[in-house]
Amino acid sequence: MSDILEQLVGLLGAKSVLVGDDISARNVSYWDNSPLLAMAIVRPESTEDLAAVMALCHQQGQNLVPQGGRTNLVESCLSTADDIIISLEKMNNIVSLDEVNYTVTVEAGLILETLQNTLAESHLMFPMDFGARGSCTIGGILATNAGGTMVLKYGMARALLLGVEVVLPDGTIISSLNESLKNNTGYDLNNLFCGSEGTLGVITKAVLRLWDQPMSRSTALLACDSFENLTTLLKTFQSRLPGGLSAYEVMWNEYFKLNASSLMPGREPIASDYNYYVLAEYAGGDQALDGEAFNAVLESAFEQSLIVDGVVVKTESEREELWQIRDNPEPLEHSRGEWACFDVSLKISSMESFTDQLKAQVDGYSQVNEVYIYGHLGDGNLHLAIWAEREGQPFIEDIELLVYTLVKKFSGSISAEHGIGLEKRKWLSYSRSQNELALMRRIKTTFDPAEMMNFGKILQ
Ligand SMILES: Cc1cc2nc3c(=O)[nH]c(=O)nc-3n(C[C@H](O)[C@H](O)[C@H](O)COP(=O)(O)OP(=O)(O)OC[C@H]3O[C@@H](n4cnc5c(N)ncnc54)[C@H](O)[C@@H]3O)c2cc1C
Repeated sequence: MSDILEQLVGLLGAKSVLVGDDISARNVSYWDNSPLLAMAIVRPESTEDLAAVMALCHQQGQNLVPQGGRTNLVESCLSTADDIIISLEKMNNIVSLDEVNYTVTVEAGLILETLQNTLAESHLMFPMDFGARGSCTIGGILATNAGGTMVLKYGMARALLLGVEVVLPDGTIISSLNESLKNNTGYDLNNLFCGSEGTLGVITKAVLRLWDQPMSRSTALLACDSFENLTTLLKTFQSRLPGGLSAYEVMWNEYFKLNASSLMPGREPIASDYNYYVLAEYAGGDQALDGEAFNAVLESAFEQSLIVDGVVVKTESEREELWQIRDNPEPLEHSRGEWACFDVSLKISSMESFTDQLKAQVDGYSQVNEVYIYGHLGDGNLHLAIWAEREGQPFIEDIELLVYTLVKKFSGSISAEHGIGLEKRKWLSYSRSQNELALMRRIKTTFDPAEMMNFGKILQ
């Protein structure tokens, strides 16, 4: 055993330092089943233990890679055989729940679904949800500034975070566990660590904002025949149900058709030949009143021909089925081996021109192609999956260049919610100026002059 491993075992005990088969028994990620690579996985049980580990690694110039549930979509916790992985899987407790002030303090290794289930017992909610809920951790959610399906009403991770505790690369503990909604005392450390993808330090604890669980939920799948009607419908919902719309998810025709026919063959909820489909959800405090208000908006939208068809959900299982059409990635994954996938943000007012130009350019690249578009339209976030055939040549980099050039032209962002990691690093300058990148580099050097934290992620 190498010196550093012996010292780590001395600090934490052998059970907390995994090596050999205990590492390779784990997958690289949710998306990649090949065996995980690392010199060791260290699993501290407290912030102080972690601080001792990081101080030791700092002295020895040892690269560290923080990992949560390894569910990120941008290769942001990829490790090599020389890295030491920091896993907070033993730091997964709810430290305190404050029902009066609507906050919860948690350790960063806590799994999102465990938090959701515990809060539900008190009729409370941490408004963050997506398909990886059973594996992803609060640390990973914060480090990626994750979004999900409720951003329209509650915001992304940054908006849900009140305080953090962090261990810096040299082992210094920064405890900034603020519990107040208002705390205007200088630079915002929460926002610096949130979205930093493990490149500045390790988040060990967090104070999160909570809400009451909605007492009512009204959901409808609606069809629109023009983009203008989609945006007018969104404005109508927002003005008639102020602050209440929790989701406004849009699927372009091709995506809806593929998913509905694969997941509900022969019993698609509505015809699949409309141009756009919206999954709209209204969360409120009174089922009877809210259902009435929601239906009233739908009726007037039909009268104005903003909607041409639709179904309103009556049961929880119907609701789940409709969300599956929006959320389930399997039909796409099974239809082709390889996709160029994107998570871009654009002004809603630019989206129609963007998608028209995108389709024309992909056609120009290759007449044989498939373009699927869907996303959190209410948040200005589109997901794109593109496949193109061009004389058997790899197409992904060409399509990336095409998409990101177009995103830049429309002043959008190359990453709306998934982050940068390794995967999007080379495209970062399409959304950030040289001065912004230089400032980010200075921030990284201030926190991590030895470049030992999650080497190479976000910045070259
Ligand atoms: C099915 C599915 C659906 C998804 N849907 C969405 C979605 O709708 N919206 C969305 O935003 N994302 C979505 N994601 C991706 C999402 O970003 C991640 O699932 C989640 O936020 C990452 O959490 P994790 O614990 O798995 O972190 P990991 O993947 O393990 O790590 C992610 C990053 O965080 C860093 N990190 C992890 N823990 C810490 C810590 N304690 N301190 C500092 N750095 C740390 C890592 O180094 C890495 O850079 C989805 C993923 C899947 C698999």
